[in-house]
Amino acid sequence: MDSQRNTTVITAECFCKSHTFSLEVSTAKLPLECDICHCDYCRHCTGALFVIKITWPQPRESVDISGLQRYQFSANIMYRFCGTCSALMFYESVRYPSKLGIFYGPLKNVDIDLTKHIYVYDTRNGGASFWLRKPNANGKEIPRYQQQFSEDKDEEIDWYWPHVPSLGCGLWPGEWPLLISWHCKSINLPLHCKYYLTKDREELPWFIHPTTNNQIAGFTVRDPCHPYFSNEIMNWVTVDLGIISQRNGRAFLKTTAELKVAVDADDSAAGTLTCYQLSPEIQRYFCKVCSASAFCTCSKRPEIVGVAIGLLRRILVNQQNVLSRARAEVDLSWNFGDTSTSLDDATWGWRGRLIKRVQADVQELMVSEQCCASTISVANN
Ligand SMILES: [Zn+2]
Ligand SMILES: [Zn+2]
Ligand SMILES: [Zn+2]
Repeated sequence: MDSQRNTTVITAECFCKSHTFSLEVSTAKLPLECDICHCDYCRHCTGALFVIKITWPQPRESVDISGLQRYQFSANIMYRFCGTCSALMFYESVRYPSKLGIFYGPLKNVDIDLTKHIYVYDTRNGGASFWLRKPNANGKEIPRYQQQFSEDKDEEIDWYWPHVPSLGCGLWPGEWPLLISWHCKSINLPLHCKYYLTKDREELPWFIHPTTNNQIAGFTVRDPCHPYFSNEIMNWVTVDLGIISQRNGRAFLKTTAELKVAVDADDSAAGTLTCYQLSPEIQRYFCKVCSASAFCTCSKRPEIVGVAIGLLRRILVNQQNVLSRARAEVDLSWNFGDTSTSLDDATWGWRGRLIKRVQADVQELMVSEQCCASTISVANN
């Protein structure tokens, strides 16, 4: 910060550093105000349960984003992401041609103020809004809106909705297959969780809940996550590649080595997936069309992958044979007792303070959701 001139330089950069944007702004404009979007579209375009969006404080015409990949997110909105590492950076809207929106993830050094939750009805049950109830330093609840912010008070949802908490119980373990589903629909992969239903407790791997026999959903704040998912708290399930199939019923790739070979060879089994080597041992797979995350893999664990929970939906066909778009949160056992991993990556500044507030909100959620008793025991074991 230049205290003489009262300005601050803010920087947005993708993970691989191919694309960097810097801007000197008046300190009076900080913290930047932003929205937390819970819409289905953002979710399937990233893998995160929600994304944080901000208006970049510079006119659209002054920023050269021609080097970024395009993805037509909706009729009005174009996403722009790094084609090498897949970090989502900007979005443009035909409704606001002079403005440029930026995702929070690539922003490196700026304090933000989370002003409201939008598209919360898409969550069906409040979703992640409950652990961002009081996300700012003033400790106050922020408003939630059914869809976009509106002056119409009817659009605002009070914090009593939904009346019956339904997140995190793992109530229907394995009843229906889940689907890993990307926004561009280039690939959809069924996840056959039913496999674990009949297993005895001692046969279950560490990532399956010992009493619900269901996938355990975890929290992480690892540094490499936030440039990709545009939020600070990512949620993952660990999945055995053996329970994933292709949509046509054929077997999917059984090991991370097979996955890498298929992606490198453009094999149809790997669809539109491509790979970015995050570190010598960690690979990140993403969709080259829409940039959505797919898997996070580690060379030391050849048969399991991390799957971003925002991609999951339940396949449910009702009596009229209509495919339900239900989210999968209620099919998972949430590990609220172990709020997050890699906390050492989030000890500084705004980010560190946010994580502490999320932990407080999660504690409150654990008390209000009696069904969490079983997941707490996992963390304490
Ligand atoms: Zn990049
Ligand atoms: Zn959205
Ligand atoms: Zn895609």
